[in-house]
Parts: sequence; structure tokens; C-alpha cells
Amino acid sequence: MLHFLKCSQHLGPKHEKGIMMKHMTCRQLGGACETEFFAETFEEMAEKSKQHSMAMFQAKDAAHIAAMEPMKALMSDPSGMQQWMNSKRAEFAKLTDE
Ligand SMILES: [Zn+2]
Repeated sequence: MLHFLKCSQHLGPKHEKGIMMKHMTCRQLGGACETEFFAETFEEMAEKSKQHSMAMFQAKDAAHIAAMEPMKALMSDPSGMQQWMNSKRAEFAKLTDE
């Protein structure tokens, strides 16, 4: 039983008492699908989104590759990327905790 509880903390999106998890979809983060990411902080959220995008990119998912095109343009300009991050961070901050 204890073992099961330990595992569910890592695998499940549901938060433990006192820990606030927020969720955003891939699409909300500039991606192309409705995959949901759960995270406590925006940094964690951005990282999960990035890993998902990379995986989809490597799987040659056309929708995600197309969605990444404007991101590549953003990334070539550090201030543009910063602005994008700031706007997503603000969106994340406005989310209500599940
Ligand atoms: Zn996606």
C-alpha cells in the first residue's frame, strides 16, 4: 500500500495535499495538441512542454513541426523569446489550481 502511494505521487497528475499543481495544454504553450502538462512552477511547465515538443519533433509529427516554426523564429531573437516566456508565465500565474 505504501509502495503504491509512493508511485502514484510520481505518476499521477493529482497533487498531494498542500502542493498546488496547475495544468496547461500543449496548444496553450505554442504546441499543436491537447496533451496536458501538470506542474507547480512555470519553469517546470516550460520544461515538460519542451520535452514533449522535442519528442513529437523527433517522431516527425507534422502538426508539431509546423507549430515549432514560429518558435524557431522567436528563439533566434533573445528578446522575442523572453517576451513569449513572460506572456506564458503570466498565463500560468492566472490559472486556478486544480
Ligand atoms: Zn503536443
